[in-house]
Amino acid sequence: MKADTLAVHGGFAEEALFGASAVPVYQTVSYAYKTAQDLADAFESKTPGYIYTRIANPTTVALETRLTELEGGIGCIATSSGMAAIASVVMGLLRAGDHIVAATGIFGGTVSLFKNTLRRFGINTTLVDVADTNNFEKAINHKTKLIFVETIGNPRMDVPDIRAVAEITHKANIPFIVDNTVTTPFLIKPVDFGADIVVHSTSKFINGHGTAIGGAIIDTGNYNWKKGTFDDIRKLSDRVGQLAFLAHLRNLIYRDLGGCPAPMNSFLMLQGLETLPCRMLKHCENAKRLAEFLQAHPKAYWVNYPGLLSSDFSERVTEQFGGYGGGLLTFGLGNKQRAFKFIDALRLVKNQANLGDAKTLVIHPASTLFHEFTINKQRAMGVTEDMVRISVGIEDFEDIRNDFAQAIEKTF
Ligand SMILES: *Cc1c(COP(=O)(O)O)cnc(C)c1O
Repeated sequence: MKADTLAVHGGFAEEALFGASAVPVYQTVSYAYKTAQDLADAFESKTPGYIYTRIANPTTVALETRLTELEGGIGCIATSSGMAAIASVVMGLLRAGDHIVAATGIFGGTVSLFKNTLRRFGINTTLVDVADTNNFEKAINHKTKLIFVETIGNPRMDVPDIRAVAEITHKANIPFIVDNTVTTPFLIKPVDFGADIVVHSTSKFINGHGTAIGGAIIDTGNYNWKKGTFDDIRKLSDRVGQLAFLAHLRNLIYRDLGGCPAPMNSFLMLQGLETLPCRMLKHCENAKRLAEFLQAHPKAYWVNYPGLLSSDFSERVTEQFGGYGGGLLTFGLGNKQRAFKFIDALRLVKNQANLGDAKTLVIHPASTLFHEFTINKQRAMGVTEDMVRISVGIEDFEDIRNDFAQAIEKTF
């Protein structure tokens, strides 16, 4: 079936008992078994069955199946947040002494995980500019165990050449992780460009309404775990084949770290997915129109939207995302004072830290999301003091534009 159909029907056919057509919320911690032997068999994976919701839950499995189908993968594990997804992948693959190569423009929380938290466990990270793909090859050393990029970095709005980075990682026989949060499977299926593992913060466009935090890990099936450099996963692959990485997570890392989603949140993600194809198109259309409006506005100093023809990444956007530039853009008003004044003057548009909401949101990244980084680090991450980040919603474009227009007028 086509993606728009999978978004509505994927992972769930019907509820057997009463015929409920929405996925039931299995709000339960545990699952009762008739006999002691039955439960013992479930623990030993001799018979399939749910045991405990920290390991698996039927509502969450419906979400995992739908995401697997949408991403064209072989399996998925849903998590309590995007950060839990990324942390589980990295902790599932790396050990003390290992090394990560990641894009400079990735989400600030991921940078902090790599640079602060994982460093405490002996894992080091080199961040590289995605504009020149050779940077990845140069940064790889014999300790490098994975490469991590986002489809569109934010707030730099830089776009890696995903296929070219995949080739580099495959030459080094290490897995290539792609965070597809801001593009979703409706703009790109990273599996087709060589990604081995796709991660999501489902809190953003997939949920779509700012109502729940969640994440997901999808194994695309591209990486050959039997021939990989990870001993424990290679051993597992003798028994479970290509599902070895997900089995390793499910039965060890994910189980032990405890980053499972609440069943109700999985339900909210399933519901969000149903309208994602329509919403994503509207986000992209509104973002492009707003970028063009700001580009033509005499008082806006600069605009950065990868979907503009003037963007350095326009070609990659055409090639990888079918020409859709996503729902995020940044623009500048010359200094921080004006950025603050502009944000305070907005009436419809909200000042919030999240993105991918149906509502249009703005934030001043330098004083919020990136406040813990020095000015030099902020610059390297593409954050300037006059920058306003916009997550463009699905409201009528005229209303968004009018609010921006009146707020810019009040700023000067
Ligand atoms: C928000 C975000 C994350 C982290 O997700 P949470 O659900 O907030 O934990 C990771 N990557 C990207 C690209 C994000 O936007």
